[in-house]
Amino acid sequence: MMEKDRKFYGKFIIKGKIRAETGLKIGAGRNVAEIGGVDSPVIRDPISGYPYIPGSSLKGKLRSLFELHVHTHPKEFNLESLGFNRNIGTEQNKILIHVCETYEQASKCPVCRVFGASGDESNFPSRIIVRDAHLTEKWKSKPLELITEAKPEVSIDRITSKTNLRHFERVVAGAEFDFEIIYNVEELSQWKDDIKNLLTAMALLEDSYLGGSGSRGYGKVKFVFDTFEFRSADYYRTGNEREKVSIPVGEKPVVDILKDFDGLFSGVKGKLEGM
Ligand SMILES: [Zn+2]
Repeated sequence: MMEKDRKFYGKFIIKGKIRAETGLKIGAGRNVAEIGGVDSPVIRDPISGYPYIPGSSLKGKLRSLFELHVHTHPKEFNLESLGFNRNIGTEQNKILIHVCETYEQASKCPVCRVFGASGDESNFPSRIIVRDAHLTEKWKSKPLELITEAKPEVSIDRITSKTNLRHFERVVAGAEFDFEIIYNVEELSQWKDDIKNLLTAMALLEDSYLGGSGSRGYGKVKFVFDTFEFRSADYYRTGNEREKVSIPVGEKPVVDILKDFDGLFSGVKGKLEGM
């Protein structure tokens, strides 16, 4: 597949809430979050002071969890292996990630196809767009002191045994953010696997963590879906409501959507098979 063969058949619009099941640690800033997108995915809006989850860091976290999964189980994805080939850290502190180097390779790669690849030779544009996740209206109407709190944390230097008292800021458990992920259908033979892979990454995140100090219990999140909808390319030309297919996911957890995938997505399958 070459870049000139790129096509567009429609979009999946996935909306809902990210619920903080435990406190979420607030990180330093966008720069940190954007490198690898893993360390500080919750930051404060510099103007309102309200915390939010930048789309780039949510996407980065989903990608890194899915990369590790594919790297460990390549056969499940019809791959020989998935290499961690690029260092985005320093020589001393390596942070290795996977990136396909060409458009051609990325078009067959379960990771780069969904999340994109900036290769040395050519780029593969991401098929998903992950918007910034801001607090829901309900949470935005609360005073800031009820949403974030400073928590003292003692760390012990393992060499000198000295204790260090620092204050970390966190978002309280229960807080909810609106998320939106858009997936572009560009290849009829791949949308099903891509959507399944995206859902797998979301399921992996629910049993991982968002933000820092995950091993200390921070950052447990849950996805609650409101809208899971397919809009055909014709919808964007005609506005015809019949060009939209709602996937009846209700409030099903991510893994249950994967379990019932064929049944839930039969309407979309019918629509896309006619193209
Ligand atoms: Zn790849």
